[in-house]
Parts: sequence; C-alpha cells; structure tokens
Amino acid sequence: MLDPYKIRKEFPILEQLVHGKQLVYLDNAATTQKPKCVIETISDAYCTINSNVHRGIHHLSQVATERFEEAREKVRSFINAQNRHEIIFTRGTTESINLVATSFDNTFLNEGDEIIISTMEHHSNIVPWQMLQERLGVVLRVIPLNSDLSLNIDAYKALFNEKTRLVSITHVSNVLGITNPIKECIDIAHSNNVPILIDGAQSTPHIAVDVQELDADFFVFSGHKLYAPTGIGVLYGKEQFLNAMQPYHGGGEMIQTVRFEKTTYNELPYKFEAGTPDYIGAIALGRAIDFINEIGLTEIAKHEQALTKYTVERLKEIPGMRIFGSPNGAAISFLVGNIHPADMGTLLDHLGIAIRTGHHCAQPLIDYLNIPGTVRASFAIYNTTEEADILVEGIKRVSRMFE
Ligand code: PMP
Repeated sequence: MLDPYKIRKEFPILEQLVHGKQLVYLDNAATTQKPKCVIETISDAYCTINSNVHRGIHHLSQVATERFEEAREKVRSFINAQNRHEIIFTRGTTESINLVATSFDNTFLNEGDEIIISTMEHHSNIVPWQMLQERLGVVLRVIPLNSDLSLNIDAYKALFNEKTRLVSITHVSNVLGITNPIKECIDIAHSNNVPILIDGAQSTPHIAVDVQELDADFFVFSGHKLYAPTGIGVLYGKEQFLNAMQPYHGGGEMIQTVRFEKTTYNELPYKFEAGTPDYIGAIALGRAIDFINEIGLTEIAKHEQALTKYTVERLKEIPGMRIFGSPNGAAISFLVGNIHPADMGTLLDHLGIAIRTGHHCAQPLIDYLNIPGTVRASFAIYNTTEEADILVEGIKRVSRMFE
C-alpha cells in the first residue's frame, strides 16, 4: 500500500506552516507540488548539461538533446503511444488544444462544420473552438448532462450528423471529479467516423492511460498537474492526423529548408515544436514520470479514490452540505448552506487549508448548476485521511461562524 507519510517527505513545500498552522494542501487539481527528485533534476540539468538542443555538434548540446529525446520516450511509454514522434511537447493542455484547433482548422474544417464538446469542459476546451467559430463559422454542439451530472450519452449520440468533424471532451471533470466513460465516448465518435480529442489534464495524474487501447486520436495533458514543473505539457496525436495538419507556429526547428521563395517543414514531432523548446522542463517531466512509475498508478489510484470516498462520507456529516455529482476521481466540489465559496475559502485558508473556490475555469458548468461557484478539495499522492479530517473539522468550524 502507498504510504502518503513516506511520500510527503519528498515534498519540501508541505513542511511549512501557513498562518501558523500546518499546511494542508488540497488544491492539487490546480497544480501539484514538486518532489525533491524533480526539483533536483531541474537544478542538475542547469548545472551540468544546459545547452540548446538539436542544433549543436558540441558535447553539451548533444547530451541535452539526448536527455530531451529520452524524456519524449518516457512520455510515449507513460501513455503507451505507438510512436515517439507522435509526442509533441507544448506549454500545457491549453496550448495543446489551441494547437489542434488552429492546425486542424487549416486542414479539416469549413464554415458550417460542427465540433462537439460537453457542458463540463474547462475554458481551455471551449474558447479555442469558439475562436474557430468566430474565424471560420464552425458550429459548437454541446453534450448536456444527466441529473447526476454525468454526461448524457444518448444526447451525445444524437449530436452527430454529416457535418460533425471533431469531438473534444474531458476525461475527468476538474470541477466535479467525475471520470467520464471515455472509451465509450471514443467508440461512439469513431462509429460516426469522427476523430476525438481527450483532455487528460485531470486524468493523467491519477489513473493509467493507454492511448492505443483507448484509440484516442488526440490526447493532451499538463506537466504541472503531474508533479512536473509549469510550462511543459504534451500533445499526443495519431501520426496520420499530425502529418496532415499544418504547423502551428513558424520559426526555427520546425523547418527543413527556408528560402524566400519557399519553405519546407520538418518531420514529426519537430514540425510542431518551433523555437527553443523547454527541454529542461521536458527532462523534469520525464523525472516526474519516473517518480510516478516508481510508486505505480494502480497504487496511486487506489489511494486517491479511497481518500475521496472517505472525504465524501465525512463531508456528508456537515449540515447543509451539498456535493455536486458523484466524484470518483480525486476532486470534490461542494457548497455548505448559503456560505459563499469565497468566504469558505478565505476562512479555511486562515486554518492553513488550501482549497480552491469559484468557477474553476468552467463557467458554463457553474451557470448550468445555477450557483456562484463551488469549494473544491482535490487530492494527490501525498494527502492523508488526517488531512481530510482537518478539512472536515475546518468546514464545521466555519459553518458554525455563519449560524
Ligand atoms: N483542462 C482541464 C480539465 C483542467 O483541469 C485544466 C487546468 N485546470 C486545463 C484544461 C488547463 O490546463 P493548463 O492551465 O495547464 O493548460
């Protein structure tokens, strides 16, 4: 069994006091803390191998390039992509989706074509498609939710028609902590001959993902939610699509030859990696993946799901508690009576408890729920039932202040 107390020792930030109280960090869906091995990897890389990748024949540049490409291999293996060149390094989930929206646009979309998203998407899986709507006149179709806030699969099936060109939905909701039946969603898209993008920002830190088994056409995630630094993320795309798509950014590295008359583009993955990449970030992401693999995603999932279940049960003790949906991932959204989420968040912060409040970059979902926002507690490998208890006691204390 995973021992969160042993794991915590790897995370220096967790040792600190906040407002004189031991920090209880439950904002992991926003970003996770970093283990020493990842922090040391960044520091070591700058101290020993730093040199721009791919362009140098000197020693340091070659070592940096090798380490960067090793990191790509680690990512490939982490999500079991077939080919290393199907892994594109980006700044994160947001940039990965924008890349697909922009490059898919040039090649595959025309005015009146339809893209399916869902009610529970993060803004980063809404706005890039809305920008296409403005630029190109594509139409967004939105999957509604059932009363338990799960995706309405029958309604999803009914959204397809001859104009549907792409589906783009989240694997796990960052607000509700609900894991969508993603394999079923992918199969439905494919039975309509439509490719599908999966937003894995909230799944990759918590459950094993196999893009070949899922048969996802695109799969995107962020390093910083996965114990890696900010500024590095991943776009996985099937070779057939990436090859057919136009480049996203132009510049160095993504070209084969540049003449004023005509430029030709580099092969995958470099065609989509213009400019100096965040190679140190990628190397650190590779180390974070090693760290996760050393613990094992099966154990991680067991631990976090048990913690979620325990916390949900304990939260239900609190009068006026309203939990949204049936969280089965690592995030729980709730409200207590009429207490505004921002008040709850501020008062919990004074108790050293870091949770997130507001719309969580999913305003359409919050509007659909007809609430001002939620309070969200989200877990990672280092969280304990003791911390869940501190959260519950903290909420009870805040609630009493509002009686
Ligand atoms: N999608 C989901 C489901 C998310 O939770 C997030 C981050 N909260 C994003 C996309 C955006 O990720 P990033 O800000 O790292 O690009």
